[in-house]
Amino acid sequence: MNSNYDVLIIGGGVVGCAIARELSKYDVKAALVEKEADVSMGASCRNSGVCHAGFKYAPGSLRAIVDVKGNAMMDDLCRDLKVKMKRIGKLTVALNPEDEPGLHKLKERGDANGVPGLKVLNREEMQKIQPGVNGVAALHSPSSAIVSPYNLTIGLAENALANGVNFHLGQEVVAIEKKPEGGFVVRCKSGDAFETKVLINSAGLYAAHITDMLGISGFKIYPARGEYYILDKRLNGTVKCLIYPAQSKSAEHSGGGGAHLTPTVDGNILIGPTAQYLDDPEDYACTADVMAQLRREGQAILPAMRGTDFIRNFAGSRAKQTPPEVGGNADFIIEDRKDVKGFINLMGIESPGLTSSPAIAEMVAGMVKNHVALNPDPAFNPVRPGRVDFFEELSAEEKADLVAEDPDYGEIICRCEKITKREVLDAIRNPLGARTLVSIKYRGRASMGRCQGGFCVPRIVRLLRDEFGWKPEDFLERGKTSPMFVGNVRPKGGAA
Ligand SMILES: Cc1cc2nc3c(=O)[nH]c(=O)nc-3n(C[C@H](O)[C@H](O)[C@H](O)COP(=O)(O)OP(=O)(O)OC[C@H]3O[C@@H](n4cnc5c(N)ncnc54)[C@H](O)[C@@H]3O)c2cc1C
Repeated sequence: MNSNYDVLIIGGGVVGCAIARELSKYDVKAALVEKEADVSMGASCRNSGVCHAGFKYAPGSLRAIVDVKGNAMMDDLCRDLKVKMKRIGKLTVALNPEDEPGLHKLKERGDANGVPGLKVLNREEMQKIQPGVNGVAALHSPSSAIVSPYNLTIGLAENALANGVNFHLGQEVVAIEKKPEGGFVVRCKSGDAFETKVLINSAGLYAAHITDMLGISGFKIYPARGEYYILDKRLNGTVKCLIYPAQSKSAEHSGGGGAHLTPTVDGNILIGPTAQYLDDPEDYACTADVMAQLRREGQAILPAMRGTDFIRNFAGSRAKQTPPEVGGNADFIIEDRKDVKGFINLMGIESPGLTSSPAIAEMVAGMVKNHVALNPDPAFNPVRPGRVDFFEELSAEEKADLVAEDPDYGEIICRCEKITKREVLDAIRNPLGARTLVSIKYRGRASMGRCQGGFCVPRIVRLLRDEFGWKPEDFLERGKTSPMFVGNVRPKGGAA
């Protein structure tokens, strides 16, 4: 038996980490278990990074409530965690007059949900916000924003850790026993086990596996993959706000928003996501047909796009509760189960789960209070030191001072993103102890630029070797199933 907790969270996505951070405000023994080598390896690193305003969801639904609240909480949260966020607003565009009544319906919904500042704009008004945009009218939502989804998740986790929550990475929950006297024994694939009074299911695409382990029937998740293209920063600034088409019939069925252009906080543009139901929740393939379709659609909206601007693709899976024949979206389930005392169950947290995560966390903490005392911890510190972006944030003088103080700021490791050796070393020495190439990339942006690691990855490998004395087989791209070096290694000075 490893440890005994008051509260154990299964799943280190943005929702699980937001819950961990919320619980870290209290004097309670809490921990989080995550099957992957780092937090933010599921849907939380594979999405559009949009902080939705909340006008799309049915008034009174849980999705509407936690989205609008989460959106409003995001400025303070991102400031405290030193996570990049920008309130750039969104235009939902009616491409032809038939789409226009839909904009007024969306506005009515949004007003009912308490979304601030919604306005239907005519063509001239919308073109003032985004010059050159096509369409006859648009709904403008100034509270729509963009945020770095993996930075937010990592920020929440690091702040929770600093405030006393334990993180057990690389621990896949495979069985759960209910103890006769109350509480749970949670068993992991590694052989380790954790005892807890309260158990929170925040396992995203695998949430129904967790309810199955407890003998709770009736849940099923239908994964729906969304594919994306990432565009080079050359086009940074061309898309000034979020631009979505007014909901098409096919997008309504898939429960996605329809393919669109989304600027990221780091200056790239995303095209996507598409929506396709699949059996495998972790089939993240990007397919030739979809990629060609995204190129076509993207270039139709933004003709300045060149073939060389497409620098990478990725995919994420939505944890849907509705099967393909039904389509659309079901409401979030967030419940303190009466039949299994101490089990808090989160199911179907698809979009807007990123936006809603801080509000969901507050709601879950309210449920935890039904089972264990949550007394505020006076030592709680909401602020995470975070990373100084050497090139973006500092003046020439500040840069020179830092280089004089620490010469590692004077050496560039990632040329495309201008990331210094000090920033990469800080990412390598992260407090959660995550050591994969992807962990380092998400923490410091090295290898995220135009050359996608061609220049910096060998240098990062060298830094990791020097830091930990690793052998080739120790280097992992994402986790245990993605070794960076396979096959025979040539002995020093010898033949292969
Ligand atoms: C294509 C796409 C676009 C989206 N766009 C947006 C958007 O723009 N704005 C927005 O608000 N939302 C968006 N979303 C939704 C958002 O990404 C999710 O709602 C959110 O990331 C869900 O977080 P989570 O923590 O519930 O799940 P996840 O991030 O999937 O985390 C669940 C974690 O549980 C772990 N886990 C699973 N099983 C086990 C086990 N047995 N033992 C231990 N750990 C386990 C997984 O490894 C995973 O890390 C989008 C989603 C997708 C797929």
